[in-house]
Formats: sequence, C-alpha cells, structure tokens
Amino acid sequence: MKVFLSADIEGTAGIVHWDEVERSHADFEEFRRLMTGEVLAACEGARATGASEVVIRDAHDSGRNLILDMLPDYAKIVRAWSGHPDGMMFGLNAEFTAAIYTGYHAKAGSEANPLAHTTNLRISRLILNGEVVSEFTMNALCATRYGVPSVFLSGDAEICADARALVPELRTVATLEGFGRASLSISPARARAAIREGVEDALSRVSSTQIPKLQGPFEIALEFVTPGDAWRASWYPGAYLNGRRTVGFKAADIFDIQRALRFLTA
Ligand SMILES: [Zn+2]
Repeated sequence: MKVFLSADIEGTAGIVHWDEVERSHADFEEFRRLMTGEVLAACEGARATGASEVVIRDAHDSGRNLILDMLPDYAKIVRAWSGHPDGMMFGLNAEFTAAIYTGYHAKAGSEANPLAHTTNLRISRLILNGEVVSEFTMNALCATRYGVPSVFLSGDAEICADARALVPELRTVATLEGFGRASLSISPARARAAIREGVEDALSRVSSTQIPKLQGPFEIALEFVTPGDAWRASWYPGAYLNGRRTVGFKAADIFDIQRALRFLTA
C-alpha cells in the first residue's frame, strides 16, 4: 500500500504567527521541527497499517521545510515546486491507496486561524461554484482525478469541519482554534499521538465513498486584496474581470481549473 501525504505548516499544533512559518526567520527552526514531527507521526500511523511507502509532498511556501533526517526509510519526499498544476498534490497518481493531509489550515476570509489563507496572502477568497473553498477542497478534488480517497486531515478546527463537510467519513485531528491573532492549541506531543492513531484508524477503513464527486461544469471567482492583482491575472486565456478585485474563469474539467489557478495566483 502506497500512501500520499500532503504536508502544510499553518495548521501545526502550537503555531500562531507568520514569523514561525517563514524560512528566513529565527522562529522557523522550531516550527519546521514541529511540522516534521506531525509528518513523522502520520508516517508511523501509515506504517502500522502496512504501508510500504509514504510519499510526502512538502507543500508549504518554498517546499523545503521538512527536516529530512527525521523521516523514516520508507518515505519519499517531493520538495520545491515543479510548476505542475497539481501543486500541493504533485507526485500523486492512481497507484496510491489514499491521500492524507497534515498541518492544514482554514481558508482565506476565515477568522478561525490567525494564519488562515488560500494559496497566498494576495488572495482574499477563492469561490468554486458559488462556495468559498479552501486549499483542502482543491487538493481533495485533485485526488479525485486520480480516483484516490482523502481519508485523514489534521489542522485547525475549522479546516477539520470544512473538510468533513466535503468528505463526511474523513478522520480529522483538530490541533488548534484561532481567536483574533491568538490561538488555543493542543500540545505538540498530544497532536503527534492523535495523528499517529488517527492515520492508523483512517487507513484501516479506506472506502471509495471518501472520494468527493467531481460535478462540472466549474466556475471559479478568485478575489484579490488589490485590484491591480486582479487586472494582472485577467490576461490568462479565458479569464475575465468581474468587478475590480475578482477574476472569473469557467471550465468543464477540474484540471483546467487547476491549471488556471496555477497561473492566476502566481
Ligand atoms: Zn502553508
């Protein structure tokens, strides 16, 4: 059994400030270690159910966050950005039994995590077929393209609830809750134990009902903080301005939406 793990950092237990996720900041060392600890716990949970390989997508910012020497010998790591529209899911294919997610965070526009965002801080909301969506939604739909179920997610409480709304049988571990610029978090040790146990539980009952349906046609509205960014993105083929801060795009196929987002958000 091969398991795909997409790892972000803004939903790691304990995290609260942008300095902690920024490679060039002194705070980063501590939080990359905590992120890697959660990834390692997920790997151990997968191994306990007989996974032969865990492919880890280091999916935050530079794609160079995980402390590689902490990872087990049955792991492979996808680092940095290829430019492929699968982005945070790059490396996934139909050979995987399941996709799992750690360190995930609430979507842009939410107050449930001080570090809530979608893709980058220039985007104020991403709307798919009329609903404000998260990075998880787009990534789970990417997994659907390969017929791979999404079975486990750890991150802040709101992304856990959002993710279960999309995939009701998803196993989740809530690491923290946001209050303004503060957070209330479980301890890293407790998060790691819950993630290990949760991944083991999730992978022991994988089901095709954990593959969210892809119902095209698709229409996105990408809202930017700044009108100039929307104007700039509107030059992508097929994209159109919708008001001053929003770019729209329509497609029958989710991959065309992924490809558009790859360029519209760049
Ligand atoms: Zn991130």
